[in-house]
Amino acid sequence: MQIDVIVAGAGIWGCTVARVLAEAGRKVLVLEKRAAVGGNVRCETDANGIEIHTYGSHIFHTHLDDVWDFVNRFITFNGYQHKVLARYEGKTYFLPLGLTLVNQFYGLNLAPAELPAFIAKEAQKGLKGFNGANGPDGARGGEALNFEEQAISFIGEPLYRAFIREYTRKQWGTDPKNLPASIIKRLPVRASYDINYYPDYRQGIPLTGYNFLFDRLLDHPDITVECNAPFDLDTVRSRGLPDVPVFYSGPIDALFGYRFGALPWRSLRFELETLDIADFQGTSVMNYTGADVPFTRIHEFKHFHPENKELMASPKTVICREYPKTWALGDEPYYAVDTAESRALLERYRAEAAKTPGLVIGGRLGEYRYYDMDQSVGRGLAAAGEFLGNRRC
Ligand code: UDP
Repeated sequence: MQIDVIVAGAGIWGCTVARVLAEAGRKVLVLEKRAAVGGNVRCETDANGIEIHTYGSHIFHTHLDDVWDFVNRFITFNGYQHKVLARYEGKTYFLPLGLTLVNQFYGLNLAPAELPAFIAKEAQKGLKGFNGANGPDGARGGEALNFEEQAISFIGEPLYRAFIREYTRKQWGTDPKNLPASIIKRLPVRASYDINYYPDYRQGIPLTGYNFLFDRLLDHPDITVECNAPFDLDTVRSRGLPDVPVFYSGPIDALFGYRFGALPWRSLRFELETLDIADFQGTSVMNYTGADVPFTRIHEFKHFHPENKELMASPKTVICREYPKTWALGDEPYYAVDTAESRALLERYRAEAAKTPGLVIGGRLGEYRYYDMDQSVGRGLAAAGEFLGNRRC
């Protein structure tokens, strides 16, 4: 069998690369460590026909035209628009931070033009509470020291306490005072009643499910897929393909045997429950922003398919509580832990990777970066385009 390129890892980045290269006439061998393709976007459909997002809710959303056009060649989206609600002290609010939430939380009726000044005043009050180098009017003159100060300087203390502090503590397993201010560059407050969680109007869930996207992407005569096929740098030699270029999207540290140490991640545990009711929470994702429960959110998957009237009416639903947890080698990696040390470690692995000719590393695990699905597709298109000689970005 002629092989021109190996794609190691069949997540959304790898499958995009494989498809583009195959359409350009390359014979592509896709090697996937798991028993099935799709990476963490892979879903399972249960006996009641509910599509369960095994690795947490995935909502495709993008502002990138080429990404949207590419994905729409393979699947049709259902038009779902993502909303996230927040439960705090027994009340339910619409995220993100905007007129809906602020007016409800403070019991006000602010108009769009009044919101920025209101938030600025709240932020100013919060700044006065900081210890340390305060200016003449009591406000800090310098930079925010940590995540907490940064967040309060954007939105003030009451909103921070209710919607950010405890959620972030649960998510990262540490007091937000211990997190760097750099994590939040902005915390925008929308001066409108727009409660769409993502600002992208192009969004949705594949009508026929996420797995179908991967089946379609890989359905090409010049793509061969092997599952249960882990990749390491000896693979190319042992398969008699030493000079074949490799697009790798597994963990970069794993590729080099963790020789400088493991890059740290935050992991998640999901607790699934099937309930004998048609609807548990009336929406797909409910964040629990208080310290009263240990999970961060509850997903209720059937709400991702409002077009499926039969499914919505069925007397069963599946919910999933999401618990952040400390990551140890062997656990599923979810969120890269971005610190000065982890960045330095990543650079050492990148330097190793650069010594290996024909190796392109990408994807969330390979680049040690959080990517939305559209970003992974976009970077896959770019990587394949660059390889083919038509630089895209
Ligand atoms: N966040 C928060 N409260 C919320 C939702 C998010 O404080 O109700 C913060 C938290 O620090 C989290 C970050 O925003 O780590 C990103 O959350 P988001 O839900 O946007 O990302 P996801 O985990 O869904 O990718």
